[in-house]
Amino acid sequence: MNASLDILPLSSWINTEGKPLVIAGPCSAETEEQMLETASQIKKEGFAHVLRAGIWKPRTRPGSFEGMGEAALPWLQAAKKETGLPVAIEVANPQHIELALKYGVDILWVGARTTVNPFNVQELAEALRGVDVPVLVKNPVNPDLQLWVGALERLNQAGVKKLGAIHRGFSNAQETKYRNSPMWNIAIELKTIFPELPVIGDPSHMAGKRSLLFEIAQRALDLNYDGLIIESHRDPDKAWSDASQQLTPPALAEMLHELHVRKESYPTDYQSQLEVVRGKIDNLDRELLENLANRMSLVEKLAEYKRDNNVAAYQVDRFREVLDTRAAWGKSLNLYPALVDELFKLVHMESIRKQTEVMNQINA
Ligand code: PEP
Ligand code: MN
Repeated sequence: MNASLDILPLSSWINTEGKPLVIAGPCSAETEEQMLETASQIKKEGFAHVLRAGIWKPRTRPGSFEGMGEAALPWLQAAKKETGLPVAIEVANPQHIELALKYGVDILWVGARTTVNPFNVQELAEALRGVDVPVLVKNPVNPDLQLWVGALERLNQAGVKKLGAIHRGFSNAQETKYRNSPMWNIAIELKTIFPELPVIGDPSHMAGKRSLLFEIAQRALDLNYDGLIIESHRDPDKAWSDASQQLTPPALAEMLHELHVRKESYPTDYQSQLEVVRGKIDNLDRELLENLANRMSLVEKLAEYKRDNNVAAYQVDRFREVLDTRAAWGKSLNLYPALVDELFKLVHMESIRKQTEVMNQINA
């Protein structure tokens, strides 16, 4: 893919003294007291370079806590004043940007539910034209690298040069151990397309629960990420949003202390090469299964046809033909003959089972 970004290095807009950037703070600003106390504990622990807080919360269903809105911005201003740390919030529309700038917010991020929509991203880009503020772009909720790339390009083309990406994982079709599956290979591909782009890991939204935070954060550092954004709350269990994934500031300090910062750089890094290949294998296996599912729906159609014409489910000639042709195709693809033979015996067996099932349905 032909793509490039005209951006400034992370170190030109935030000084982390050579360490990975740490952005920490509550999922949401709830009350002035909660915000200030959390911020002062974070400051006391000394690990963070930036404070985060959600002001407008994009919730999947109405009726949950949707953020305190503009009323919370003065609390952030106060937290910034008390700690001396810059503050970051999510913006989802031009009005959010206007208010963020009015209250002196230092860094903006685009949420996963916004990155999916190019109209929405373009509106943000237009509102940011001529504004000198760093913007971090979370990956879209769905595993579509191009949407992520496109959002970064739109902002960059509007003149945003202090730009970074946040990898927060992708929503799952099936239940997995993650709230949002990391799919590391997508972030690595992003880093391959834009080697100069800072990439920050968001273990909180990948994990969804405290017990997974460490391994995800370590993985991000193993892959040479430029930083981490992690949710921290003075009393996580009582948080109004994302209670199960937040850590107290002292617990977060302890976790960060245990992490190993790696020195290897990206493209030559063995681990990242492995991730790219494994990611490709995952995609191919998924396609294999999708093809198998498509094949089975065709078998169902075939069964209906046989049933209506009163033909048996199993024809020995066809079975031989299937095995012979597949063996020849496999050979031309350099596949091990026994693998192809076993595979198609299994597939054919399932196909017969399916056909008899369909045929018996009418008789029932
Ligand atoms: C957040 O960071 O609190 C948030 C809402 O994240 P995401 O956009 O990744 O869901
Ligand atoms: Mn959250």
